[in-house]
Amino acid sequence: MDLEKLASRLIPGEFPPLETYEKRYPPRDLPANAEVTRLAPSPTGFIHLGNLFVAIANERIAHQSGGVLFLRIEDTDLKRKVDGAVEAVISALEYFDISFDEGAEIGGDETYAPWYQRQRAEIYRAYARALIKKGRAYPCFCTEEELAALREEQTANKAITGYYGKYAKCRSLSEEEIYAALDAGKPYVIRLRSMGDASHKFTFHDEIKGDVTVTENDQDVVILKSDGIPTYHFAHAVDDHLMRTTLVIRGEEWLASLPIHLELFDVLGFRRPKYGHNCSLMKMDGASKRKLSKRKDPELSLSYYRQEGYHPHAVKVYMLTLLNSDFEEWHRKFPEKPLEEFPFHIRKMSKSGALFDLDKLNDISKTELSALTAEEMLAFLRAWAFAYGSEPQRAYFADEAYLLKVLSLCMGIGGKKRRKDFVTAKQALSMIGYFFGERVQEDAYRVDNATRDAVLQAFLQTYDASDDAQVWFSKVKEVAASLGFAAEMRDYKADPAAYKGSVSDVAEVLRIAVTGRANTPDLWSIMQIMGEEKARARIQSCIGA
Ligand code: GLU
Repeated sequence: MDLEKLASRLIPGEFPPLETYEKRYPPRDLPANAEVTRLAPSPTGFIHLGNLFVAIANERIAHQSGGVLFLRIEDTDLKRKVDGAVEAVISALEYFDISFDEGAEIGGDETYAPWYQRQRAEIYRAYARALIKKGRAYPCFCTEEELAALREEQTANKAITGYYGKYAKCRSLSEEEIYAALDAGKPYVIRLRSMGDASHKFTFHDEIKGDVTVTENDQDVVILKSDGIPTYHFAHAVDDHLMRTTLVIRGEEWLASLPIHLELFDVLGFRRPKYGHNCSLMKMDGASKRKLSKRKDPELSLSYYRQEGYHPHAVKVYMLTLLNSDFEEWHRKFPEKPLEEFPFHIRKMSKSGALFDLDKLNDISKTELSALTAEEMLAFLRAWAFAYGSEPQRAYFADEAYLLKVLSLCMGIGGKKRRKDFVTAKQALSMIGYFFGERVQEDAYRVDNATRDAVLQAFLQTYDASDDAQVWFSKVKEVAASLGFAAEMRDYKADPAAYKGSVSDVAEVLRIAVTGRANTPDLWSIMQIMGEEKARARIQSCIGA
C-alpha cells in the first residue's frame, strides 16, 4: 500500500517535516536534575482538592529542583468545556499561591507555546500523519453502532472489550476498501496499530507507587477523532514530549492507560517521561474509607475553601501534611520557616489514598491563624468580607483602628499565650460580631431572670469605665458577695451549699449581657474596647428582658 499517499489523503494539508517541531521546541536549557512538571486541567469548570494536591507536588518538585512548572489547558473535548473555566483554574491556584513559570494565560517564556491544545491541532496531525506513513496508524470507519455491537459481542463472550486483535476490523482493510470508504465520504478516526501483546506483563517504576506490574497495551486506541482533534492519549504524548516535560504527576485513574502512553511514546520515537500516579483523596464515612465525591462532599471543590474563608496558607500546610509524611514534624519544629524550605520529595508521597479530615484542617487553621499579626488578620478578613461577607460585616472595616484592637484582644496578642479561637474568616467575623452592631443572644443565662437583673443593676451602679482590670474585678466580687455569691472561688469550693454560686457565675451574667456569649476573651478588655456607652447600653437593655 502506498502509505505516503494514504497519509496525505487521510490528513490533507501541508506539514513541515517533524524535525521542524523538534527544533521549534528544543530540549530545555536547565540544570541536570531540574524537573519540568505541568498541570494539565481540562476546562470543565470544576477544580477540586485533588487538583490542588497535585499542583502543590508539581510546584514543589519543579521549583525545588530548579526546573519549570507550566500550565497546559486540555481543551480537546469541547463537550466538557465551560466558559470562564480557565480563569477559574488560574484564580483558584493563584489563591493558593501556586506559581507557574509559563502557560495558558500566564505567559512567560513563549518557546513552548501555545498552551491550549486546540491551538496545537496542526502538530498532532503532523505526528499522526507520520505514524500512518510508518504503517503504525490506520483509518477506522466503524460507526458508533458497530462499536456498540462489538462491545456487546465481547461482553457476551466474556472477552476484554475494546478495539484490538481480531476485533479490530478496520486494521486489515485493503487499499481498495479504504479508498472506497473515503470516496463514499464515510467519517473516520485514526487509530494506533498496536504491536503489544496483552499476555505480556512487565514491571514499571512509578515515582509515587514504586514498582507496579502492568500489562502491555494491545488496544488500537483512537489517536485522532473524526474532527481531526486528538484524544487525551495522543495529545499527552506529543505535548509532553515537545514541551519537554520530565515528570508527569497525575491522578491514579490514569494508571490503567499508562501502557497505551508508553507504546505511543515508543512508536513516536520520544523519550518517556517519568510518571508518578497520585493516590485519590479519601475520607472516613462512618467506619469505612471512601473517595471524596463531587456529589456528596462540598469540601472536594476548591471554591468551598474560599467561600468558607479558609486561609490559603493553612490549606497549603494541610495539603503538605498529607503529601509528605515528615512535613508535619518539620513544620512544628520550624513554624516560622517558609514552606518552600521544606525538603519535599516525591518518594515521601503516599502510595495509597491519603485521608482527608476537615477537623484536622480546622486544627491547623487555628494554629496558622494564631500566628498572624493583627494587621495580617485584618487584611485577610477584609479580602474575604469584600468577596463573600455580608454588608454589615463589611462595615466592620470602616474603623480599622477599632477592629485592630478587637483582633489583638481576640488573638491574645501581647498576652502570655496566643488564643486559637479563629478557624476561618467567616467564623472569625461572626465571632467578633458582638463588638459591632446590635447585641445578639447566642448563649443563655444560667441564672434566673431576677438574679440576672439584680446582678446587672448592682454592677451598673458601681461601674466606672476608668477602673483598671483589678479594681473592676474587685467590684464584680463585691456585687457577687452582696447577692449571696462567693466572692472567692476557694470559699465557694469549700462550702458550695452556703452560696448561690461563685463570682464566676456573676461574671458570666455580665459577659452574656455585654457580648451575648458565654465564652469570650477577657471581659474587662472587651468593655474597654467597646467603650462605656455601648457597654452600659447593652447591660441596661438586658435588665428585665
Ligand atoms: N486533562 C487531564 C485531566 O484533567 C490531565 C491528566 C494529566 O495530568 O495528564 O485529568
